[in-house]
Amino acid sequence: MQHLERQVVVNARLFDSQARVFRPGSTLVIEGDRLVAVTQEPIAVDDVARTIDAGGRAVLPGLIDAHVHVVATSHDLAGLALQPASLVAAQSSQLMAAMLRRGFTTVRDAAGADHGLRSAVERGLFQGPRLFIAGQPISQTGGHADLRPQGVKREMYCACAGLGIIADGVGEVRRAVREQVRQGVNHIKIMAGGGVSSPTDPLEGTQFSMEELRAAVEEAEAANLYALAHAYSPRAVSRAVQAGVRSIEHGNLIDEATARLMKQHGTYYVPTLATYAALADEGARLGWSESMLDKLQMVADRGLDAVRIARAEGVPVVFGTDLLGHMHGRQNTEFGLRAGAVPPLELLQSATSVAARLMGQERHLGALVPGAWADLLIVDGDPAESLDMLASPDTGIRLIMQGGRVVEDRLGT
Ligand SMILES: [Zn+2]
Repeated sequence: MQHLERQVVVNARLFDSQARVFRPGSTLVIEGDRLVAVTQEPIAVDDVARTIDAGGRAVLPGLIDAHVHVVATSHDLAGLALQPASLVAAQSSQLMAAMLRRGFTTVRDAAGADHGLRSAVERGLFQGPRLFIAGQPISQTGGHADLRPQGVKREMYCACAGLGIIADGVGEVRRAVREQVRQGVNHIKIMAGGGVSSPTDPLEGTQFSMEELRAAVEEAEAANLYALAHAYSPRAVSRAVQAGVRSIEHGNLIDEATARLMKQHGTYYVPTLATYAALADEGARLGWSESMLDKLQMVADRGLDAVRIARAEGVPVVFGTDLLGHMHGRQNTEFGLRAGAVPPLELLQSATSVAARLMGQERHLGALVPGAWADLLIVDGDPAESLDMLASPDTGIRLIMQGGRVVEDRLGT
């Protein structure tokens, strides 16, 4: 039998992310890359290779960001589509390494990353969060992933394909989803309404027919996967929910009736406030067009209200950010942006246990329980009071472990 190295973390004020309580005086036993025991009782462990003394500090599950694009290495998505994939991958590796150092041991990529990047992380070629991938997003002609400027004809599609697969009609949608399944994705991303960064679609419009939306969900579920939908308006969100998607991404314009429908259908909500705040600051300077900035204006101010509305109706809300290019440095601002609407421990659940449930990974991720990956953070301060320590990870997070491997150690012991 292969010998697995055994490590223990002692004096942990463990955050039980499922019960939303702290368990002081906890000991965690790790074998290889998994947790094997977690207890508040005295426990004798022999053959220990390494003991980490948390010193009574809070110990949290590794964070999960449920809406990122690790290939969005530039804010200029159309320009990015013209770069060689190898160059983008090299830049993505740096971007992922930085995410990991900010405490995100897992991310759900909401389009762009492929199985090559996921394998590179799994094999240790790139340091980065565990990757759950969507591959290419599926968009109708003129939809949110159709980045062709007006005037570019359909025939020129290949020259500026952007991130997405364009599919029109039930048959093409089924083929597009099946192709992503064939490419080994973890979930299917569909564009169910207008977007801010796309040049030609109205933000409040709907995209795809109900038949197309249902076909995408059916094909995803046929492969034991799920679909997530990009949508902003109550109308676009409601249609996607009725078609059976598992999560709504962004959703800034939702109202109470839409949130109630989401609750009824068990739909998760993944707001992404950080990117609107970043683009409100920088969009004009980055050369975004007038129409894109107008669309940004429509959604930027509504994001926090949407979180409040969803939460009040009992919709499970998940942590997401959706940043582009150099703005990834703002990933942890999402905690502060939501603090006005969500109490700290609930916010922490949104980035751990609730995110894991959305992904169907609750036995492996988002909770420090036996059998789960040994992904954990040791942090300063009291997360029950505020998540300031996560907003400033360089100083607030003292240790980051991913799969039993310490990737950052500022404990100073
Ligand atoms: Zn996105």
